Amino acid sequence: MTVFLSYKLLVKEQCSYNNYEVLKYQMTGSQTKKLSSQHKLALIVPFRDRFEELLLFAPYIHKFLLAQNIDHHIFVINQVDTYRFNRASLINVGYIYTKDNFDYIAMHDVDLLPLNNELKYYYPNQPYHVAAPELHPRYHYQKFIGGILLINREHYELVDGLSNRYWGWGLEDDEFYVRLKDAHLNITRPENISTNMTNTFRHIHGKHRKRDTIKCFNQRESTRKRDRQTGLHDVKYKIVSHNELIIDESPVTVVNVQLFCDRNSTPWCDCDGK
Ligand code: UDP
Ligand code: MN
Repeated sequence: MTVFLSYKLLVKEQCSYNNYEVLKYQMTGSQTKKLSSQHKLALIVPFRDRFEELLLFAPYIHKFLLAQNIDHHIFVINQVDTYRFNRASLINVGYIYTKDNFDYIAMHDVDLLPLNNELKYYYPNQPYHVAAPELHPRYHYQKFIGGILLINREHYELVDGLSNRYWGWGLEDDEFYVRLKDAHLNITRPENISTNMTNTFRHIHGKHRKRDTIKCFNQRESTRKRDRQTGLHDVKYKIVSHNELIIDESPVTVVNVQLFCDRNSTPWCDCDGK
């Protein structure tokens, strides 16, 4: 990353050793601005059948993060089995896939573009919810932590990642909110942002993208509760292949994942009984 390396050299050249150490980090509230190559961000995008959105998303977010000097890579975690979409399990898989080489993740919807450069993707000392309810174009409840959330490796492991019980659309993020609260983590959000819920994000969500809100078997009752059993430690999956793409100038790794469903425990992974 040329921009970043030259910046680091500049810092090194201009400062004595001691000053350089002091300058390495700048605290910005609940985040640490990177001035050395210490922190690496894995952008984890849970994905299935959103190719048009990805073509817009990847080049856009890549440039957006380069402008902030964020050392990052985009991982598209593509669900290739025939079960209902499971955003939470895909993020667990993305975390495991990247944890040895990255020290924080962004759980990032493919259809949400941050428009305001005041939204920083720096290393989060506490979970940092970029798509805050007062900024997100659609979801405005106080406990909302979906859309875009940054979390460091230690905290993701502390809460055992996300529940694996959420097949179909919704509630996995609300359950994760409770995990963070139970672990006494502080959810932090952007402050003093000059834009509002109409112009902070672009939500590329066409009418043809129907949300899978069906509830079958005992899904409704079961997914209302905090899940103390499943998470990062027991996500069952197989990586069938991966692809290295360049979309315009943006490098993207696509990880093709088959999730496994225990029909005894979550029969709603397939409401058609296939
Ligand atoms: N998603 C996907 N394919 C699907 C459903 C969801 O790739 O069939 C991913 C995608 O990253 C999307 C995110 O999950 O941005 C959240 O889903 P959705 O946009 O339907 O939720 P919303 O926040 O709009 O209610
Ligand atoms: Mn959407």
